[in-house]
Amino acid sequence: MSGMTPMMKQYLKTKEEYPECILFYRLGDFYEMFFEDAKLASKELELTLTGKDCGLEERAPMCGVPYHSAEVYLDKLVLKGYKVAIAEQVEDPKLAKGLVKREVVRIVTPGTITSSNVLKDDKNNYLLSISYLSNHFGIAAVDISTGDFFVTQADSVHELYDEISRYSPSEVICNHAFKISTAELDVLKNQYGFGISFLDDQYYNEKECRNIISRQFNISAGERPGFFAMPEGIISAGAALRYLYETQKSSCPNIQSINYYSCGEYMIMDAGSKRNLELFETMREKKKYGSLLWVIDKTRTAMGARLLRSYIEQPLINTDAIEKRHESVAEFLDRYIDRQELGEYLSSVYDLERLIGRISSGLAGTKDMLALAASLKMLPHIKNIINTFSSRLICSLNQDFDVLEDVYELIFNSISEDAPALLKEGGIIKSGYSDEIDKLRSAGSEGKNWLAKLETKERKKTGIKTLKIKYNKVFGYYFEVTNSYKASVPDYFIRRQTLANAERYTTTELAEIEELILGANGKLIELEYSVFNLIREKTAAQVARIQASAKTIAAFDVLISFANAAYKYNYVKPSINSKGIISIKEGRHPVVERMIKNEAFIANDTFLDNAKNRMGIITGPNMAGKSTYMRQNALIVLMAQIGAFVPAKSADICICDRIFTRVGASDDLGSGQSTFMVEMNEVADILKNATKNSFIILDEIGRGTSTFDGLSIAWAVVEHISNTKILGAKTLFSTHYHELTELEGSISGVNNYCILVKESGDNITFLRKIIKGGADKSYGIQVAKLAGIPENVIKRAKELLEELSGADIANNARVIASGKGYKPVPRQDELEASQLSIFDTVKDDEIISEIRDIDLSVITPIDALNTLYRLQNTV
Ligand code: ADP
Repeated sequence: MSGMTPMMKQYLKTKEEYPECILFYRLGDFYEMFFEDAKLASKELELTLTGKDCGLEERAPMCGVPYHSAEVYLDKLVLKGYKVAIAEQVEDPKLAKGLVKREVVRIVTPGTITSSNVLKDDKNNYLLSISYLSNHFGIAAVDISTGDFFVTQADSVHELYDEISRYSPSEVICNHAFKISTAELDVLKNQYGFGISFLDDQYYNEKECRNIISRQFNISAGERPGFFAMPEGIISAGAALRYLYETQKSSCPNIQSINYYSCGEYMIMDAGSKRNLELFETMREKKKYGSLLWVIDKTRTAMGARLLRSYIEQPLINTDAIEKRHESVAEFLDRYIDRQELGEYLSSVYDLERLIGRISSGLAGTKDMLALAASLKMLPHIKNIINTFSSRLICSLNQDFDVLEDVYELIFNSISEDAPALLKEGGIIKSGYSDEIDKLRSAGSEGKNWLAKLETKERKKTGIKTLKIKYNKVFGYYFEVTNSYKASVPDYFIRRQTLANAERYTTTELAEIEELILGANGKLIELEYSVFNLIREKTAAQVARIQASAKTIAAFDVLISFANAAYKYNYVKPSINSKGIISIKEGRHPVVERMIKNEAFIANDTFLDNAKNRMGIITGPNMAGKSTYMRQNALIVLMAQIGAFVPAKSADICICDRIFTRVGASDDLGSGQSTFMVEMNEVADILKNATKNSFIILDEIGRGTSTFDGLSIAWAVVEHISNTKILGAKTLFSTHYHELTELEGSISGVNNYCILVKESGDNITFLRKIIKGGADKSYGIQVAKLAGIPENVIKRAKELLEELSGADIANNARVIASGKGYKPVPRQDELEASQLSIFDTVKDDEIISEIRDIDLSVITPIDALNTLYRLQNTV
C-alpha cells in the first residue's frame, strides 16, 4: 500500500472491512468502484471499465455510477444476489481538512432491500436466519420492509426445509455449525435463488442475543417464558437483528413485535406438495395465472395479498380457529352491500406496512406521508361498517382496531396535498400550521409586491415600455431590456449579462429586495423541511399502532376476499368434523373449472374415512381426469383449513395434519438427478413423515421405472400406507397398473374407483364422472388417436394389442405388462427373489464394458446415479 495515494488507501481500508460486499465509494457526484469490484460491476451493469491513477504503476480498474441514479444500479446488483456497501462522504468537502472522511452508511443485501422497485406488493421479502445447535434448528424470518418477524424451531432437516419453503427467503444467514453440503446448497439456491452467508460465531452468543431481543422488543424472559426457553429461536432472532443493525446502520424501529410459533401449529406441507398443487404458481410456466392463488385472490390491499399468501402457506389445524374464519366469511358473504362498500374503502388503502417502514427509517417523502394520510382517512369508514357485524373473529379484530384519527389529523393538517416530491423546494407545509412558516411565506409574497412596484417605477423613469424583472437560478432577479431600448438604459443600471437580443441588468435597489426575498425563501425552505421531519418523526413514533391496524385491515381484506370468491364462484361453507371423515358432494377443481373453455366442469363426490374408505385406487385412461379429481380433493381440504369456502355442493372435512402430493416421474431428466430417484425420495419422505391424520395424493407413482419394478413399488406402497398398524392415512392413488385394483377386498379400507368413459367403436368420450370399480381397459390406443397419432400407426398398434392380449393370460387375473409381453404377476415371495442383480440378466457386452470403463475415483455421486439410471433403462 505504501506507494498508494491517500484516497486509495482510504478506499482499501474501507473495502477491507466489507470484503463480501461491492463497495460504492462516493467521489463527488459519483459512486466509484475499484479493482475486482469494478471488473465485476462493469460486467453485471454493462458499465465502461476505465482506470484511475492510484499511485502504483498500473492504474486501478474503475467504474462508476452517478449518485442521483445509483438506486437503479444498486437494485440490479442486489437482484443478482450481490451485497452492496455504500460509503458516503460524512463531512462537508468544503470544510474538510485534507481527505474527506467517508463511512459505510448502509449495506444493501437481497434480504434487507427496501427499494419499491425490487419489492413485490403481494409478497414478503424475507431474510432467514438459521442457527444449528445440538440437533435443533432455530429459525427467524424477518421482513424489514414490513416489520414482520417470525421465530420458530425445527427438529429435523425435513422441518427446516419446510420452513425454508414457507418463507421462500431471498437471503439466508446461518452459523458455521449448520453443515450443509455444496450440492444441497446448490439445490436450495436453484429452487429459491437465495444466497447464503455463514456469519462469525460472535453473532450467535446466546447471552448477547437475549439482550438484543429484550432491548428491541422491550420484553423480558418473565413475560415470554415459552419463547425465552428456546435457545435456538433466541439465537437465530438475535443474530438476525444484529445483522440488520449492521446492514441498516439503524435500530430498525419498525420491527416491533416478535411472533413465535411451533412448527406443529399449522398444517405441514412440503415444498414439493405445494408445487404439485400449484398453490402460488403453475408448475411449468411458474406463473400466478393458473394457480390457486390466482383464483381466490380477491384482495384489495397489498397487506391483504401478503396475508392471503401466508394463510395458504400455513393452513390451520385448530378447529375453533378455522370455524371462526368460516363464520366471518359467511357473514361477509351475507352482507353484499356492506361488502361492496368495504371493498371500495379497502381499495383506497395503500401499503401501510411498507409506508410506515419507510417513515420510521426516515426515507419517506411527501408522497409517502400523503399516501399514509389518504389510507388512514378510510379507517373510520371501515370501522363504522364493521361495527355492525357480529361474528366472533370480526368482532375480536374490530375490538382492537385503532382508526388512528390523531395520526391522520397530524398529517392532514400539516402537509399540503400538492407538496412537491423534493423536500428542498418548499411548498410542503399547509398555511395555518406554523406561524413562523406563514410569516416567512408572506415575506415572500410581500417581496413580489415590492418587485412589481419597482418594475412600474423603473419603467416610468426610463421610458422603457418592455422593461421586466425576471428571475433565474444563476443570476437571481434582473431587469431585462431588449436591444431596441438599449439606448434608454440609465447609468445606475449595472450590466450582468448580454444575450443576442437583450441585456440583463441589476440595480442597488433590486439587489436589496432580492436579498430580502431570497433570504426569506431560503429560511422558509429550511423551516418547512425541518417541520416535515418533525411530522415524519411524530408519525414514526406511532409505528406499532399503525402496524397493528395494518394487520387488522389485512385480515378483513382476506376474509372479504374469501367471501367474494365464494360469491363469484359459488363456493360453500365447509363443516369440520372430528370423526376422521372427508365427505365432499359435487366437488370441483377451483382452477380447472376456471380454465376449461369448451366443456362444462363435471363435479364429483368423495368419501374417505378412517375405516372402510381409507384409500381410493383410481384407474382410468390418460386424460380422463384422475389428477384433476385427486388434486381437487386436496385443494378443497386445504381451502377449508385456511378458512375459505370451497368449490362443492357440500363438504364435511376432518382436520388434516399434513397434505402430501406426489406425481410419478415423467421422462424429463432435467435436474441432473434421475427423476425416478426424486420420485422415490419423495415417496420415502411420505412413508417416514405421514401420520394417520394425513391426506396423501399419489399420482401414478412407480411410473418412472420399468413396469415390473413400478408395479411392485406401487403395490408395496399401497400395502404400507393402508396398513392401519403402520400408517392408515387417507389416500387417493391413481395408477395405470390395473393390477392394483386387486387390492380391493384383500386389504380392508382400499376401494377401487374409475373415471367413466364412453366407448363407441374406435372412439372414446371422457365423461369425467368418478364411479366405484376398476377400469377394465386403459384405452391407450383411443387416447393416442385423440391426440392425433396417424391412422396407420393406430392400426398397427391395434394389431399388436390383439396379438399380445391373445397370450396365455386368460385365466390369470394377476397380470402385469412387462416391456416385452405379459407375464403373470409374481407373488410377494417371488417378487423378493426376483430382485436380481443386473449382471445376472444383462449379457450385453457394451453395457458391461461401459461399467468397466467408469473411473470410480473421479465420478460424482450424481453422475453415477445418472449412469445407473441410463443403463437400467437400456436393459
Ligand atoms: P389424467 O390425470 O387422468 O390423465 P387430468 O386430470 O390431467 O387427466 O385431466 C385432463 C384434462 O381433462 C384436464 O386438463 C381438464 O381439461 C379435463 N378435465 C379433468 N377433469 C375434468 C372434469 N371433472 N370436468 C371437466 N373437465 C375435466
